Amino acid sequence: MSGTVLLKRNRAKPVNQRHPWIYSGAVDRVEGDPAECGIVDVRDAGNNWLARGYVNQQSQIVVRLLTWEQDEQVDAAFWRARLERAIAARQALADDPATDVYRLAHAESDYLPGLIIDRYGDWLVVQFLTLGMEQWKDEIVGSLVGLVDGVRGVYERSDVDVREKEGLEQRVGLLWGEEPPEEIEIVENGRRFLVDVRQGHKTGFYLDQRENRARLPSFCAGAEVLDAFSYVGGFSVYAAAGEAESVTLVDSSTPALDLARRNLALNGLDTGIEYVEGNVFSVLRGYRAQERQFDVVILDPPKFAHSGREVERASRAYKDVNLLAFQLLRPGGVLFTFSCSGAVSADLFQKIVFGAALDAGRDAQIVGYLAQGADHPVALTFPEGAYLKGLICRVW
Ligand code: SAH
Repeated sequence: MSGTVLLKRNRAKPVNQRHPWIYSGAVDRVEGDPAECGIVDVRDAGNNWLARGYVNQQSQIVVRLLTWEQDEQVDAAFWRARLERAIAARQALADDPATDVYRLAHAESDYLPGLIIDRYGDWLVVQFLTLGMEQWKDEIVGSLVGLVDGVRGVYERSDVDVREKEGLEQRVGLLWGEEPPEEIEIVENGRRFLVDVRQGHKTGFYLDQRENRARLPSFCAGAEVLDAFSYVGGFSVYAAAGEAESVTLVDSSTPALDLARRNLALNGLDTGIEYVEGNVFSVLRGYRAQERQFDVVILDPPKFAHSGREVERASRAYKDVNLLAFQLLRPGGVLFTFSCSGAVSADLFQKIVFGAALDAGRDAQIVGYLAQGADHPVALTFPEGAYLKGLICRVW
């Protein structure tokens, strides 16, 4: 059995440019029966073969493309080769004794659409985001445990809303090997953290900030540091290790702050740390009213824009919180500011931060451009993969 997706006239260009997605609007018709595993050939309006991928007619993204080589079959060996490539690209991380936590597969940007694989020491935590990928779960897990040395278990965290757009239920649980402990102790750039891979955000930890956290300590000696949206204290551990005089963590989540407290203690860093449970917007307004000042502020908010339609509202929220940060910084102080909204471009984000500095009446210089780490690559054919952007600003 095989199926063919025929495109409308003049809709082949993105496919030829190797963009991995075909939206329903570009599809003229689907012929034949897609194989049980959902693999289809894609042809242009003139019936010329273009590419091969997996189909989901319930999704707005009808096909996710896998290969542009007509004689390349999509089978267990195909997935194994793709996984090998993704794993090979992380060899430097695998060899680094100071880090045992990183992303092994970053979906479309690793030519594995709909598949996330994160490594937490001896456990792999995976997300199957699409129907097409779901159908290859056994082959993927089977290859993976043979390809990654020392894996004790593979745990699934497919509890993500995007599965609903694919007609899939959320799913969480062990896929292979041993159950992970309630908390896995991991090491990132020599700093230790406890991670709850069952309940934690995403697959447990914000792995995408690893390289950015490493930039923080050099700004922190003797500084009063404010870590806003701290979660489990990722940035705070690095700030305290950089000999900050004090670190104030602000987050609305009690369990996140509890774990942050234990993470700081685990690194022997428990003096001069203040934990504040509350809404960052109101806590920072309170500090402004008290004329409290900081030398370093980190702003790593959750995704404010989930789609293009939310960009305007999100921009106002980013502007508000950055304005507060500028108002709280001492002259010569440093702001680490982030947006993880894919719909907000790096260019727009810089403009928002500029607007905030202007309204605060502060001069600010960009002294660093930040992005997601190298284990979260962006395929040139898939610019949508660039979601995390950040700036280090020196404020006067
Ligand atoms: N910087 C963290 C990740 C931050 S994730 C790290 O490096 O690991 C975003 C955090 O913001 C979450 O912990 C969430 O609980 C918190 N949060 C979301 N909205 C908030 C708000 N309005 N006020 C305070 N915290 C908020």
